[in-house]
Amino acid sequence: MITSTLATPRPEVSLRIGGEKRHTASGGTYQHINPCDGTPDAEIPMAGAAEIDEAVEAAHGAFLGWRQTNPAERRRILMRFADLIEQNTDDFTRLGTFDNGTPSGLVGGLVAMSVEWTRYYAGWADKISSDIASSFRTHGEFSYTLSQPYGVIGVIITWNGPLISLAMKVPAALAAGNTVVIKPSELTPFSANLYADLAAEAGIPAGVINVVPGSAEAGARLVAHPLVKKVTFTGGPDTARKILSTCAEQIKPAVMELGGKSGNIIFEDADLDLACGYGTMMSVGLMSGQGCALPTRMIVARPLYDDVIARVSAIASMIKVGDPFDLDTLSGPVVNEAALERIVGMIDRAKQDGARLITGGERIGGDLADGYFLQPTVFADVDPNSELAQKEVFGPVLSIMPFDTEDEAIEIANRTPYGLSGCLFTNNLKRAHRVVEALETGEVLINGAINLGVHRPFGGIGISGMGKEGGRQGLDEFLWTKSVSIA
Ligand code: NAD
Repeated sequence: MITSTLATPRPEVSLRIGGEKRHTASGGTYQHINPCDGTPDAEIPMAGAAEIDEAVEAAHGAFLGWRQTNPAERRRILMRFADLIEQNTDDFTRLGTFDNGTPSGLVGGLVAMSVEWTRYYAGWADKISSDIASSFRTHGEFSYTLSQPYGVIGVIITWNGPLISLAMKVPAALAAGNTVVIKPSELTPFSANLYADLAAEAGIPAGVINVVPGSAEAGARLVAHPLVKKVTFTGGPDTARKILSTCAEQIKPAVMELGGKSGNIIFEDADLDLACGYGTMMSVGLMSGQGCALPTRMIVARPLYDDVIARVSAIASMIKVGDPFDLDTLSGPVVNEAALERIVGMIDRAKQDGARLITGGERIGGDLADGYFLQPTVFADVDPNSELAQKEVFGPVLSIMPFDTEDEAIEIANRTPYGLSGCLFTNNLKRAHRVVEALETGEVLINGAINLGVHRPFGGIGISGMGKEGGRQGLDEFLWTKSVSIA
């Protein structure tokens, strides 16, 4: 039994609509379960159709005022918001761990990243410029463009990064002059609750950020609302298809940040300590495999294959799984019972498919038996066409497979319908450039580069989604271009 997560009471979660807190809502309540011990730890009011509609109307009502707020003032307010998030790092860290069981050491890093994302887009608020096409005066006309906000943006996020997912969307939307209605995942309500408190404290006007915890039905209502002019979504491809079909009916644009099955190619000249440490910790440690861009398929040059398997196995079996508030813990529970059962099912089928289990593969018992804890699990000899190599597990399971030539490595890396992220380890610069160009992924991380730098756009192709978060492109997602010409 883990006692540290039981020690502190959970905060009372409320809806935020037009600056007002609501402690009850027409969508009933959701019982939040502590993933460390399977016990209920909070009752969350859930938005129904009525509250979603009210939140959208509040955001619509606030739009004109926010859009007309001096951009420098928008920058100042968003900077204050970033400062407040930073000052509340300890609380966000605790709440993030309460939300989904991610080790608090890692959540703290994600809070710092969220501060950077917020500051970065605050800085864009008064630097949104237009193009002037005066040199193209075909008919003696002077032409220019205007970049304009859409209005109300529907923000729907999943549970694995309850603060960073907001930081990747909301500051960019607000810097561009939009207002937002946020529907956090029902599984992780606590971080979004504090986020709403601090937004108000920063001076973000009532109605500019509305937060409505709710179910899938609430999300669907938000997407379908005609006053929602664009949707930005982080979650799985199945939900994305439903959202996009509603968007298609209304010809509504959407950003889709979906899943991944990232290949991690380890070439013969790689720094093996680095490659194996990074490849193992990122895939089966830290977030227990619950990250979209994690390198879950290790594609290894055949001469290194046995050595890499031995190294990865040693690292994986040393990962301490347990109490996420213990600073020695490197991996916490998976998010809930359904996730645990799904992952165990995939592990069992991988064994039947002929993959060789190297380490792990079981639910953890003993003191952790009541929580949703899994052993870091590594399979070798994974068939690149098998379910394990083709489907996102979203749990602590790594697949290792060999390659003989550079072309084959690229072909295996590209052989899934996903295209979010890719990794490679090599010290050969020419090869790195060749492989980067050939990989069909939205990003490539070389020799252990860190993910989610705010200065560069993040987002996939294929069933990993469409649109970008980060960099100038992340801002442009929340602006539409009007072309103007004066005779
Ligand atoms: P999900 O798709 O089931 O749910 C995500 C959100 O969508 C939740 O808030 C949920 O309530 C809402 N929702 C569900 N049905 C809806 C509907 N019909 N209409 C509107 N909203 C609806 O999420 P999941 O599958 O549990 O999340 C994990 C997935 O998220 C993984 O595939 C992971 O890779 C992906 N992910 C992607 C990124 C990224 O940036 N690319 C980041 C984190 C997670």
